[in-house]
Amino acid sequence: MVNANAQRIWEAALGEIQLQVTRTNYDTWLKDTVGLAYAEHRFVIGAPNAFATEWLQKRLRSLIRKILAAITKEELEVQFQTFQPSSSLQAGDELAPLRPSAVAAATASLSPAPPHAASSSANSRTRLNARYTFNSFIVGSSNRLAHAAALAVSENPGLAYNPLFLYGGVGLGKTHLLQAVGCRCQEKGLSVLYVTSERFTNDFINAIRENKTEAFDTKYRSADVLLVDDIQFIADKERTQESFFHTFNDLHNASCQIVLSSDRSPSDMPLLADRLRSRFEWGLTADIQPPDFETRLAILRARAAEQAMTFPDAVLEVIARRVQSNIRSLEESLNRLILRARVSKAAMTPELAAEALADLSPEKRQRLLSPPQILAGIAAFFQTPIVDLTGPRRTKDIVTARHVAMYLLREELQLPFSQIGQLLGGRDHSTVLHGYEKVAREIRGHGTLYPLVQQVRENIYRHP
Ligand code: ADP
Ligand code: MG
Repeated sequence: MVNANAQRIWEAALGEIQLQVTRTNYDTWLKDTVGLAYAEHRFVIGAPNAFATEWLQKRLRSLIRKILAAITKEELEVQFQTFQPSSSLQAGDELAPLRPSAVAAATASLSPAPPHAASSSANSRTRLNARYTFNSFIVGSSNRLAHAAALAVSENPGLAYNPLFLYGGVGLGKTHLLQAVGCRCQEKGLSVLYVTSERFTNDFINAIRENKTEAFDTKYRSADVLLVDDIQFIADKERTQESFFHTFNDLHNASCQIVLSSDRSPSDMPLLADRLRSRFEWGLTADIQPPDFETRLAILRARAAEQAMTFPDAVLEVIARRVQSNIRSLEESLNRLILRARVSKAAMTPELAAEALADLSPEKRQRLLSPPQILAGIAAFFQTPIVDLTGPRRTKDIVTARHVAMYLLREELQLPFSQIGQLLGGRDHSTVLHGYEKVAREIRGHGTLYPLVQQVRENIYRHP
């Protein structure tokens, strides 16, 4: 059971930890942790699997204890335990403070959904973020149309606008609106399937590879409402586009609602097949713009009201003025300020807010790695010359090292598979995809490559 208070404190702690560990370590070990309990000088943190539990215990215990002590202002004993949301979480049970990414990740690694689960209704498989509802969405001139359209679609799924295509920059509320539609439709008893386009692509590739296209079709065509987030990523994938085209047609013909989000409009996706582009424009296309000052302030007020602290308006105005183009950054800035106020026990003043934001620059925090640095790190770890990574030799060790290279170039740098192939001596796109997926499967299943890849990653980040 996740305790709301423990979770709130833990989220504040995560904000601070994030500044002190590498991004990879954060994403690998901390992102999906939850605050489980806080009582009698004992703080319990849940991690999605035994491996992460042990790693945190060994490597971060003292840092975590220090940060938690600063926030709670008391000396604590810190404990880690493997947390299995699937067994301890009831539907609707304090779901709000728990990030569903944690739930999804933990459940995925504990009990992978059987490929034929499609018949058990898409509903049970889609875990939506309980925070992303229409109630918690602040409407302003920058998102009014998108909001109204999303609301109309959830009132009359399949009838209002089909598809609804929402687009806009990072952190402006696309995922929030998509999930709000999903939430509303689930409440009506409809089966909702929410996926990112990359999930769709992976499912499709796996279905082909494993000869399970029927299960794939059942999964995607049995939804009453299909929500695909960040559809822009399918634009350069021909076969996935074709598959999505057929899925789209079947659902549309059956009057099932389709909602898509993207970082740009269909007309700005040059690689999108024309027949898909025209379908994306069949219904309503609505953009979301960066929020104006009043909207930013309203969002901050709403977030502030959820806290057990009071914030003078002048303080929120400092943040609203400084952070302009991204609502996610707006929320992060508020959390930073809260942390700063707790740690320094200072009064909540505009000066404190300015101070808290002074060193906030996400670019500063992200280490920039280049492909040669990654290849060099892998070569060093496997004690293989770089020419062997890019060359034709196929001994077992070299093939493994090469696969890990494919995986890390993708995960760390988000390079297209074709470019990774180029870097690795002109290998073709499907070879790279295959290598990447192979390692990704091992990582998901915590196979033998798992600790090894973590180690390589750490080495690379430690000595870039
Ligand atoms: P995107 O998918 O466009 O990158 P998200 O939907 O993930 O952005 O939004 C980023 C964060 O900002 C989320 O925490 C979300 O709840 C919040 N957010 C975005 N728009 C609004 C809004 N209009 N009102 C309240 N919160 C919002
Ligand atoms: Mg999003």
